[in-house]
Amino acid sequence: MAGAMKIAVVGGGISGLSCAYYLGKAGHNAVVFDPAPGGAIGSVNVEGCILETGPESWLAMKPWAEQLIRELGLGDELTGSNDAGRRTYVLRHGQFVTLPEGLQMVVPTKIWPVVESKLFTWKTKFLMGIEMFRSPKAMPDRSVSEFVADHFGEEAVSYLAEPLLAGVYGGSPDDLSAASVLPKFVEYEQRYGSVVVGTMRDKRKPSGQSIFKSMKHGMGMLIETLLTHVQLVRSRVAAIAPAPGETGWQVLVNNDWQQFDHLVLACGANHAAPLMASIDPRLSELLAAIPYTSSSIWTFGYNRSDVPHPLDAFGFLVPRPERNAIMACTWLGTKWLGRVPDDKAVFRCFSTDPDVTREAALADLNRLMGLTAEPIFALNHRWPNSMPQYAVGHTARVAEIDARAAGIPNLSLIGNAFYGIGIPDCVRSAQKAVERIGPA
Ligand SMILES: Cc1cc2nc3c(=O)[nH]c(=O)nc-3n(C[C@H](O)[C@H](O)[C@H](O)COP(=O)(O)OP(=O)(O)OC[C@H]3O[C@@H](n4cnc5c(N)ncnc54)[C@H](O)[C@@H]3O)c2cc1C
Repeated sequence: MAGAMKIAVVGGGISGLSCAYYLGKAGHNAVVFDPAPGGAIGSVNVEGCILETGPESWLAMKPWAEQLIRELGLGDELTGSNDAGRRTYVLRHGQFVTLPEGLQMVVPTKIWPVVESKLFTWKTKFLMGIEMFRSPKAMPDRSVSEFVADHFGEEAVSYLAEPLLAGVYGGSPDDLSAASVLPKFVEYEQRYGSVVVGTMRDKRKPSGQSIFKSMKHGMGMLIETLLTHVQLVRSRVAAIAPAPGETGWQVLVNNDWQQFDHLVLACGANHAAPLMASIDPRLSELLAAIPYTSSSIWTFGYNRSDVPHPLDAFGFLVPRPERNAIMACTWLGTKWLGRVPDDKAVFRCFSTDPDVTREAALADLNRLMGLTAEPIFALNHRWPNSMPQYAVGHTARVAEIDARAAGIPNLSLIGNAFYGIGIPDCVRSAQKAVERIGPA
């Protein structure tokens, strides 16, 4: 038993807030510092529509966010995506083409939907067919583009990997590390040679639950509820330093140095880097070397009667060769039942350009959806430098970060920059840090 510690948590996004919550449960006294708590997560209600400023859901197969939500007494708020209406369109030659059934990320597991698909040429279909005859091999880390092109050809990079991953990481598969972003497929390559064979062998029985989960009244409720459980100071931490003559820390907030026994950095690797500069320059350099990309979400609301399209899918992806402003669009009322009144239609348009204008986003939407009416509302949320990129070499970089951080007493580094960018991964990183810190 270490005894109750006073712990500073720098950053109150989902990582920092869940960490403070678990620290409190473990008997510690945690204080979160953040001028804008919630980080990327927040919800707004406009014209009866529940809208998200950043993330709208998480992958149901990762349990940690759901565990936290249930623990907070919000189990009744959990909702699943409307998988009966699950279908995704991909733009090809300016037309919507359905993403073939049975695809697991970039890996086809059903033959006929791929054979019949207009998304791929016969060359790609042939490459997908013969992929299962590859021999096992271990390769050094390489980009997602190289990995996917090696298995299925360039077209699968442009029309599958790029639009699917750009929506998650906001970056390019040319830069992302296959080992970090597609670890299961890299493992299959080593074990079976073929990712198709690996995926088919590993095919888990459908759990019966939705693929995506969210909260009925919006993800913001998770943040609001966490805030009722933690101590928050709405201020930025300007500097950190080892406490003089002790093993603890001091943090500079509003020109005042405050003393703590332990420090949790949950502010993103890009913000942790300058804080660490005078303490461990190499660690700071490693943190700063994790690249970040930016994004923007335009949310347009319409009267349903002004939208001619049947909205018979979760939305559409725009692969790079077809792209102007929008790279993905969610048809909110189809994906989430109960979030958009029947007489409204809402389009959540994602772009990797944080400065994309209303006009540019709307021009794309009007053209692709056949819209002529003006939207009844339009909201923009910009996310500059918010998405860490797991670039080639990420695993080795994070291993070095971990090793250096482990050498600094009473320091924890958590958040989306290291072992997973999704909300459940962030909660998991908080849980693990609290396990390492131990109970009071
Ligand atoms: C547009 C967008 C859409 C996304 N969609 C999804 C999705 O659908 N599903 C999913 O699972 N994930 C999604 N993600 C990813 C997920 O939302 C994030 O990875 C996660 O919310 C990050 O949480 P975090 O607490 O680690 O970091 P952040 O949310 O970035 O929080 C870091 C906090 O640190 C604070 N901070 C920084 N510097 C300091 C300082 N010096 N002192 C004090 N505070 C500081 C900031 O104010 C911020 O609040 C999305 C992300 C974005 C940006």
